[in-house]
Amino acid sequence: MTTSPIALAIHGGCGTLPKAEMSEEEWAEAKADLASSLRAGWTILAKGGSAVDAVEAAVLVLENSAHFNAGHGAAFNSDGEHELDASIMDGETLAAGALCGVKRIRNPISAAKTLMRRGDPLLLAGAAADSFAEAEGLDMVENEYFSTERRRKNLSSMKIRELVGTASEASEAEKHGTVGAVARDVEGHLAAATSTGGYTNKPPGRVGDSPIIGAGTYARDGRCAVSGTGKGEYFIRYCIGHEIASLMAYSGLSLADATDKAIAELTAHKVGAGLVAIGADGAIVAPYNSEGMYRGWVTPDGFVHVATHGDVELAGQAEPAP
Ligand code: ASP
Repeated sequence: MTTSPIALAIHGGCGTLPKAEMSEEEWAEAKADLASSLRAGWTILAKGGSAVDAVEAAVLVLENSAHFNAGHGAAFNSDGEHELDASIMDGETLAAGALCGVKRIRNPISAAKTLMRRGDPLLLAGAAADSFAEAEGLDMVENEYFSTERRRKNLSSMKIRELVGTASEASEAEKHGTVGAVARDVEGHLAAATSTGGYTNKPPGRVGDSPIIGAGTYARDGRCAVSGTGKGEYFIRYCIGHEIASLMAYSGLSLADATDKAIAELTAHKVGAGLVAIGADGAIVAPYNSEGMYRGWVTPDGFVHVATHGDVELAGQAEPAP
């Protein structure tokens, strides 16, 4: 057991709205939800709990918030339905659980953790994944539970853009979003978790990077834990999470240099992207190339920080680290 500090970072997607498009009240709510997510994860870590439980708890709060594209508030696909993807990974054992295209699980991240605990299979898709969660006694909902007015407007505007041929000019906020968390626990184990509704107006059956281990989610003790957000097809092509861990292991890059290099690959394709990552020593980075990224972290002294664009705000103190 090491005595290095516990660490926690979260993101709520690189599809942040321009500041003017949300009321002061809505911005305050979104930031409060980021802070609650951090507190939920940090409380577990501060009590000596596992990184896996901490990332699940942090993501669960964001899935329950209407402000982020995961769980309640998820993006609509082109059929006007929600198909959700999520995964979680334990850096100590490399165990992982992932679900894609689920329609009825209230908190996909908890179902992913339950699947991980079962051990095999690692990834379940569609109706079978919904049935698995139901059989495990997890909370099930109607698909409409995930709908919000803002996402309905996003779908209409993306459909219009498709008709007039301007879909590629849509802002990250119109299309994207995802939530994720990375943590290091008191024993030095790392974990990562990611959950998403994918992108607005995606074709039914499309699966992004969030449930793909090594792409949108990756954790490996001694290297790093990563959760990504942005155009999933590119995260999959570059295996971004695993790429960062490999750049650190085989090229000796620091966490900051490895993550910057990975984001630069995506920027070269003009792809909006961001991520949060934690190193084996508890160092935190949160790079992005879009206008903003909902994000936050807790410093070892227990101070909660949240941010949407360039600004970083102090959002009070959580329990001090053990
Ligand atoms: N990465 C997610 C996906 O491609 C979407 C996002 O993060 O914006 O499904």
